[in-house]
Amino acid sequence: MTSATSVHDTAWTSGRVDEVERVGDHLVRLRLELAERSEHLPGQHCVVRLRAEDGYTAQRSYSIASDPADPLLELMVECLPGGEVSGFLHDEVRAGDVLEVRSPIGGWFTWAGDTTAICVGGGTGVVPLVSMQRHAARLGLADRLRIVAVARTFAALPYAGELLAGGAFVALTRENLGDRVAHPPYPDEIERLAAGVERAYVCGSVGFASFATRLLGEVGVRSDAIRVEQFGATG
Ligand SMILES: Cc1cc2nc3c(=O)[nH]c(=O)nc-3n(C[C@H](O)[C@H](O)[C@H](O)COP(=O)(O)OP(=O)(O)OC[C@H]3O[C@@H](n4cnc5c(N)ncnc54)[C@H](O)[C@@H]3O)c2cc1C
Repeated sequence: MTSATSVHDTAWTSGRVDEVERVGDHLVRLRLELAERSEHLPGQHCVVRLRAEDGYTAQRSYSIASDPADPLLELMVECLPGGEVSGFLHDEVRAGDVLEVRSPIGGWFTWAGDTTAICVGGGTGVVPLVSMQRHAARLGLADRLRIVAVARTFAALPYAGELLAGGAFVALTRENLGDRVAHPPYPDEIERLAAGVERAYVCGSVGFASFATRLLGEVGVRSDAIRVEQFGATG
C-alpha cells in the first residue's frame, strides 16, 4: 500500500476510457486505464482535465470508486444541468477516448481499514464510500465500516444495489424503501451504527454535509472525529 499523496505529489497522466456505462438518465460510470498509476487509498479522488482544440481547459475533481486492487480507475459522475465537465463526460465520452487525469489526490478523507468508522454519503457523495466498502470486503474488514447512503430515490443513488448488498443502510428521502417511509435518516436509525466508532466520514453537497455532521453530533460522534468532503459548485 502506498502512503497517501497530496495534490502536490501527483503528475498529470493520460487515462484511456476502457468502459462507459450510462446509469439511468443522470449518471455515467467510467473505467479508465491510466498510463501511470499510483495505488490510491479508499476515499481519495482524482482530477480530470478536458482540453479544447483552442487550448481552453476545464478541470474537476471526481472521487475514485475503485478498490485499490482494481487495475482500472472507476469514476461515477452525475450530469448536472448546464454542467461543463460532467455534461461532457456524460454525453460525449466514448470507450477509447483519452482524458488527462491527475491521481490520486487527498490524504485526509481516507480510510485504510485501520479504524472502526461510520460513513454518511449523500448522492454522488457515496462514491468514495464505495471504494471503502470494496476495500473492506476484499480484506474481510466489513465489521469496521458502517455506511449510511442517502438519496432522493433508489434510481438516483449511485451503486444502490451494491451498497445495499454490502450491508449499507439506505435512506431515501422521496420514495419509500421496503417498510421505511421516505425521510432523511433519523438519529435513532444511525445511533446503533455510530456506537463505538473511532472516526466518521461525511461526503456530499455542502447542505448535505452540514445535515450529516449535525446528525452525527446528535448521536454522540465527537466533532473532531468527523472528516468531511464537500462537493461544492467550484468543484
Ligand atoms: C473532492 C471532490 C470529489 C468529487 N467527486 C465527485 C464524484 O464522484 N461524482 C460527481 O458527479 N461529482 C463529484 N464532485 C463534483 C465535481 O467536481 C464537479 O463539481 C461537478 O461534476 C460539476 O462540474 P461541472 O463542470 O459539470 O459543472 P459546472 O459547469 O462547474 O457548473 C454547472 C452548474 O452546476 C452547479 N454546480 C456545480 N457543481 C455542483 C455540485 N457539485 N453540486 C450542485 N451544483 C453544482 C453550478 O453552480 C452551475 O449552476 C466532486 C468534487 C470534489 C471537490
